[in-house]
Amino acid sequence: MFSGPLDQSILRRAQEKNLVEIRVHDLRDWTHDRHRVVDDVPYGGGAGMVLKPEPFFEAADALRQDESQVLLLTPQGERFNHATACRLAEARHLIFLCGRYEGFDERVRTLADREISIGDYVVSGGELPALVLIDATVRLIPGVLGDQDSAGQDSFAGAGGLLDYPQYTRPPLYRGLRVPEVLLSGDHEQIRRWRRKEALHRTLQRRPDLLDRAALSVEDQGLLSEIRAKEDGEMSNTRRGHEHR
Ligand code: SAM
Repeated sequence: MFSGPLDQSILRRAQEKNLVEIRVHDLRDWTHDRHRVVDDVPYGGGAGMVLKPEPFFEAADALRQDESQVLLLTPQGERFNHATACRLAEARHLIFLCGRYEGFDERVRTLADREISIGDYVVSGGELPALVLIDATVRLIPGVLGDQDSAGQDSFAGAGGLLDYPQYTRPPLYRGLRVPEVLLSGDHEQIRRWRRKEALHRTLQRRPDLLDRAALSVEDQGLLSEIRAKEDGEMSNTRRGHEHR
């Protein structure tokens, strides 16, 4: 499950450049029986199997260093977001504990410095959530992304924590859909202003909660007023249209 994502693209390059070292361990390496069993039936009965505590504790004993942070992947954890990714990107050593089946023995939680969820849904194991955390975190490590694909412009990361502005590439006209004229103008100041306004507009429409927390400049406030004034104008035009009919 790990080899595909870890061996491709940005994660592969980050490892090749020695900006991050990622090791995958098999819990079965910390079992002591012939069949290398890591799960058992739940006390009290019920469906499915539960991961035993011993392999997790022995793995943590073997892998933990002074500077390690142990992260437990669980849908019951704090929801992962950009701010957490930034903090993880500064960490020296992270250990991700992945569950499977019905989950892990409750005592495994005592090993964790943080419990993290990737969202309010359940996937079959902690491997994909761990990969989501790893990818989101590694791309924030300085030097991992080139100038070409800088994380600084992405949604949530971009100045003030807004959604990203709309992106276009060639051709300028496709199936009747035209690239906004300003992007073809070569006027860098106009393009910068258009992008900022679009980022604000998009965030206002889709994630107004982000705007409440965003660090907005005086220019941003002005652009937002323009956006709101235009929307108010459009709304009253529509109302007038309805009344007219
Ligand atoms: N019975 C568990 C519960 O409801 O909390 C869910 C078990 S789930 C099928 C198996 C494992 O997948 C979990 O132990 C966890 O490691 C991982 N997992 C599933 N959904 C997750 C999520 N949204 N975020 C992080 N990890 C998740």
